[in-house]
Amino acid sequence: MHVKSGDKVVVISGKDRGKIGKVMKAFPKQNRVIVEGVNILTRHQRPMGPDRPGGIIKAEGPIHVSKVMLYCDKDKQGVRVGHEVRDGKKVRVCRKCGEILDK
Ligand SMILES: [Zn+2]
Repeated sequence: MHVKSGDKVVVISGKDRGKIGKVMKAFPKQNRVIVEGVNILTRHQRPMGPDRPGGIIKAEGPIHVSKVMLYCDKDKQGVRVGHEVRDGKKVRVCRKCGEILDK
């Protein structure tokens, strides 16, 4: 996949188009990611005892990885990613400005 956990991405399609968030979890096998604040699903939870009062639970649902692009802080937009070797290390770089996107 072109993104992984911890990446800053922008959503390029769907109802959350244009939203920027951090990848909280990646599921390479399913080609899906969970992005902070994106694809919020609401679930009604029944009360489960005194410590779990129930109510409405909001949580991010996974979205397909093709719906996100890596976000470049310099370009302020989603960008295509290239792979380069710098100082003997394989890194992902922004194809637009050359900025290293791996922290
Ligand atoms: Zn860039």
